[in-house]
Amino acid sequence: MSKNKSSESVKVVVRCRPLSRKEESSGPAGGIVQMDLRLGQVILRNPRAPPSEPQKTFTFDAVYDANSKQRELYDESVRPLIDSVLAGFNGTIFAYGQTGTGKTYTMQGAWLDPEKRGVIPNAFDHVFTHISRSQSDKQYLVRASYLEIYLEEIRDLLDPNHTNARGLELRENPDTGVYVQDLTSCVCKSIKEIEEVMNVGNQARAVGATDMNEHSSRSHALFLITVECSQPGPDGRKHIRVGRLNLVDLAGSERQAKTGVQGERLKEAAKINLSLSALGNVISALADGRSGHVPYRDSKLTRLLQDSLGGNAKTVMVATLGPAPQHYDETLTTLRYANRAKNIQNQPRVNEDPKDALLREFQREIARLRAQLNYRKWRSKQKNEQMEGESWDGDREKETEGEEDEEVEKEAEEYVKLEEQRLEREKEAIRGDEYMVAEEKQRLLGEKERMMVDLRKEQEATEQLTAKYKAMESKLLVGGKNIIDHTNEQQKMLEMKRQEIAEQTRNEREIQQQMLAQDEETLELRETFTSLQQEVEAKTKKLKKLYTKLQCIKAEIKDVNDEHVKSRQELEQTQNELTRELKFKYLIIENFIPPEEKNKIMNRLIFDPEEDQWKFQPLVPAERSMKKRPASAVGYKRPLSQYARVAIAMGGHSRYRAENIMFLELDVTPPNTTLFDRSKDAELNQSPSLDNSPTKEKGIRKSHSW
Ligand code: ADP
Ligand code: MG
Repeated sequence: MSKNKSSESVKVVVRCRPLSRKEESSGPAGGIVQMDLRLGQVILRNPRAPPSEPQKTFTFDAVYDANSKQRELYDESVRPLIDSVLAGFNGTIFAYGQTGTGKTYTMQGAWLDPEKRGVIPNAFDHVFTHISRSQSDKQYLVRASYLEIYLEEIRDLLDPNHTNARGLELRENPDTGVYVQDLTSCVCKSIKEIEEVMNVGNQARAVGATDMNEHSSRSHALFLITVECSQPGPDGRKHIRVGRLNLVDLAGSERQAKTGVQGERLKEAAKINLSLSALGNVISALADGRSGHVPYRDSKLTRLLQDSLGGNAKTVMVATLGPAPQHYDETLTTLRYANRAKNIQNQPRVNEDPKDALLREFQREIARLRAQLNYRKWRSKQKNEQMEGESWDGDREKETEGEEDEEVEKEAEEYVKLEEQRLEREKEAIRGDEYMVAEEKQRLLGEKERMMVDLRKEQEATEQLTAKYKAMESKLLVGGKNIIDHTNEQQKMLEMKRQEIAEQTRNEREIQQQMLAQDEETLELRETFTSLQQEVEAKTKKLKKLYTKLQCIKAEIKDVNDEHVKSRQELEQTQNELTRELKFKYLIIENFIPPEEKNKIMNRLIFDPEEDQWKFQPLVPAERSMKKRPASAVGYKRPLSQYARVAIAMGGHSRYRAENIMFLELDVTPPNTTLFDRSKDAELNQSPSLDNSPTKEKGIRKSHSW
């Protein structure tokens, strides 16, 4: 199943948006982010620090400044990934950054302006253009899904009504990894169709939100494209490759304020950032390489992206920045986050012939329908032959499959027409036959009429079959056909050239980065000193350089420490608040809930590791597992009622423990303190005394049965 076992690191690119008009007018002049496009470096200036403090420099696979074009980013950083997906790899692109820094702009952009179309529309173009230009022996099936994670719940954006109140669930398959159960997936045959799918999802996303901006800054949107491609291999069999592409627009990375909120609001605030902080922990664990445990299971997002981070996928992360000085802290955090992600190693491999390929199912179904149609064709041919007594042209057998489809339809129609005419003729003949008895005539006519009805039914069935067959087949895209009209040679050449340029830029940058790194190492080796003085000078220069580097690293350590202290304080605060909540709940439980009720509830609780939640065991066993109520019969126990079963399941009320048995107990009348009537004294003296111990009394036991 695997072809390429080599590992490769996550590609990280950084993009900075231009200063907005508001920021330009309000803040001090200029941004705090500088970029060296040639070297792929970001230089960050701390607006609050004295000018003497060294600036922070980070190096990435590529950087895009405020003047960068959407197309540049796509050609250089995304195109190779989409090509891999088309070749059967898994691919992920995710946009990470503070709200308002251009995540959605980068992923989606302005759809109507060709210059401003983002990664997603460009990827649509790319996929369908590739299919239209591929060889005609390839068959493709493209599917799209769109979901959103909000407050740790997964919402299907293509079918928002279907989703139950608690959201969709994640499941794991040993072959294909983690997937979302019951997620809608739409087969798309063209760019237009897949764009429509995206639109439907975007609308659903907006409908659920009261404030779209706030909603999008708190939820993660995942657009999933699956491209299945079948191609005959050298062994003559059709092989299927499946590429899955995740396009992820993450929630805003800024810290959600947790201070001063309580109860539900606190839980909500904690949940909003759960996925992102879990993502951060996963990235840290992977980048570190030392910790064995990677906490993928901590959130829905990290479980869904499990393959993309340290697994079977090629991944590109686009970190977005804003240049405004007031967001220095957030920008620095984003850069650090991105810097860490660079160290993650993935092991991408081609997904070949997976068991769950939908394309295979489609091909089987199409083959089945074709066989049915061919059978019908053969049958109609046989009948025709019988009828007309002439053989059909032998060369019809040599038709190609495509022509065959149309022929099948035509022949079927022809046959039906001829057959109808024949029946009509026969009917006429019967009517015109003067020697036939009226009854016999009627019978024969009725028979012909029935044959006519049968014929029509059969025709209808064939039509339905043909329609189904066509619908199925149209879903498969075949290479070599022009789905898009603009694929002329010139355009192709232009794209190739653009690709080449992008490749070159990438290589150039890599070489530059390598040179820079080597420069420092070889400095010493290259230098031969003629005089002592020269040596001192050179060494002083080097010392200075190293000293600045040391200062930088020291500052970095201090920053990281500060950050840890801050996040620790925040966590402690959250913990304190949650402990307070917990104590409050305990107080209520202890004072207002009877202990036996509490125990009953505790006994019914089970932990669901799949959902990471405590759940109640169902009180009543599922319908199917319930036995049929036995019929009462003499000598048998009375059947248990539903109510009694529930009571038993809950730990039992004394009443039900006594179910079905005789309960023998002395029915003691309380001692009577009133004086008895004298006239009854005699009777009283004869009757046994009630004050005595009940064990002596044999005659007044009473039996109960419930
Ligand atoms: P996010 O999704 O990260 O919250 P948006 O993508 O909504 O941010 O961007 C916020 C605003 O900034 C939008 O109006 C968008 O048009 C603008 N913007 C973002 N990036 C760029 C860019 N590279 N060039 C021009 N405008 C941009
Ligand atoms: Mg957004």
